[in-house]
Amino acid sequence: MSEGMIEETHKSAAGGRASSAPLLGDDREPTLFEFSVPGRTAYQLRTNEIPAIDITELLPVEHLRSEPVELADVSERDLVAHFTRLSHRQFAVDLGAYPLGSCTMKYNPKICDEVAGLPGLADVHPGTPAALVQGWLALMLETEHVLCEVTGMAAATLQPAAGAAGELTGLLLMGAYHEARGEKRTRVIIPDSAHGTNPASVTLGGFEVTTLPTDERGLVDLEALKAALDGDVAGIMLTNPNTLGLFEEDIKEIAEAVHEVGGLLYYDGANLNAILGVIRPGDMGFDIVHMNLHKTFATPHGGGGPGAGPVAVSERLVPFLPGPKPVQHDDGTFGWMSPEHSIGRVHAWHGNTLVLARALTYLKIHGGDGLRRVAERAVLNANWLRVRLAEHYPAAYDKTCMHEVVVSAGAMKRKTGVKGLDVAKRLLEEGFHSPTVYFPLIVEEALMFEPTETESLQTLEALADALDRIALEAESDPDALHAAPRTTPVRRVDEARAARMLIPTQDARDEALGLST
Ligand SMILES: *Cc1c(COP(=O)(O)O)cnc(C)c1O
Repeated sequence: MSEGMIEETHKSAAGGRASSAPLLGDDREPTLFEFSVPGRTAYQLRTNEIPAIDITELLPVEHLRSEPVELADVSERDLVAHFTRLSHRQFAVDLGAYPLGSCTMKYNPKICDEVAGLPGLADVHPGTPAALVQGWLALMLETEHVLCEVTGMAAATLQPAAGAAGELTGLLLMGAYHEARGEKRTRVIIPDSAHGTNPASVTLGGFEVTTLPTDERGLVDLEALKAALDGDVAGIMLTNPNTLGLFEEDIKEIAEAVHEVGGLLYYDGANLNAILGVIRPGDMGFDIVHMNLHKTFATPHGGGGPGAGPVAVSERLVPFLPGPKPVQHDDGTFGWMSPEHSIGRVHAWHGNTLVLARALTYLKIHGGDGLRRVAERAVLNANWLRVRLAEHYPAAYDKTCMHEVVVSAGAMKRKTGVKGLDVAKRLLEEGFHSPTVYFPLIVEEALMFEPTETESLQTLEALADALDRIALEAESDPDALHAAPRTTPVRRVDEARAARMLIPTQDARDEALGLST
């Protein structure tokens, strides 16, 4: 570090918060551009003897920028302070309970990050020749085997980069399977409670969606299913337990009926928390299953970070899996192979491999009996909450649920005008992330809680107490609830407007709102 840099650092740190940034007079964190002081940098390179090269000798002129990239000029000190402050303004899985249903947000053990950060894993380029990454290949193959054991399947691809990418892969496999048998099937059946990615993937995969109604039990309507089945059906996509948190009791009968007309069963395994070590999609009769490692297996979901959506399949679909796949040769060494009728790549490289490393770590530290305990605790916690909340927030379907419970604020809304959204926003003031709201679409004022196995009884009690307080407030002071959250750095925003009119600076915002002087 040069003396100049030390001086610079002290100068920018001296003013305390947002030292070099304009004073904004409110609690808003400035953007990095507002800190920018021309010439200031967050890095320093030593001068050396290496002569500069003329870049135009290496790259065609038409590929070069004519203007430099516009970046903020900030010191390392200001940069770190900025992101540290921002990180404290966010709710996070490491801060408290995050009972977001459907998109599991549980606490993830730090040992998994520790392993994924090992230089032997993190610093390897995906294009490294197989001979130099034997360890990585062994690890990927073991991940595939463990995931197949968990799901009861024959083989898997680790390439898909997220749940939806896994769904598309599964549907392409479904198409390839039927095509290889000389059949052109056009329809895929999906219940009306399904996750929104399901119908989107079906369409992208080249099929038409047939929507199936949910019956009064909150389950697949068997009669409607049987009426929808014919030789045109490529398959059915099911989530089990479904997105109402209920187990499809008729799954054996459903599987038989779909197989009888030559269709395949796709299992949306984004969330395996309810069934780990207890029951397997393969044993229920499913042919294809995708998993969200970034929900169930130690990578938090959301925030736009990398995910992994491996797809495991039954024996008859193995020849169609994406390639290249890791393989162990007869001489014990590891390499790559492509299945005989492979649908090809679904990822530019081998998938988001560090997410796989985290997942394998998680699976191994728990072991079979540990995973079973994960499922038992997850289901117990959800049912505890279901019963404890029943007075003010009745369950949409009043029976034993699995890892999540969908309750309704419909009665509360009719009586007090306080909506599910108000309850969710107010919960943030109490130090809890909100549940999933308004999903599944078939439940009025839906609040979907997934407490997960990682929350203690004390935390669940505190969450339920907070929800009860909110219910009483709905009676006594409904307007306050419409204004929530009042204590968070960012209060209630108009989400639709915020997405359509992205205004990154205070000045631009004031101008857009006609507030500038
Ligand atoms: C999260 C989720 C998906 C989609 O996963 P992404 O990784 O977000 O693409 C699909 N189905 C269900 C049931 C989910 O909860």
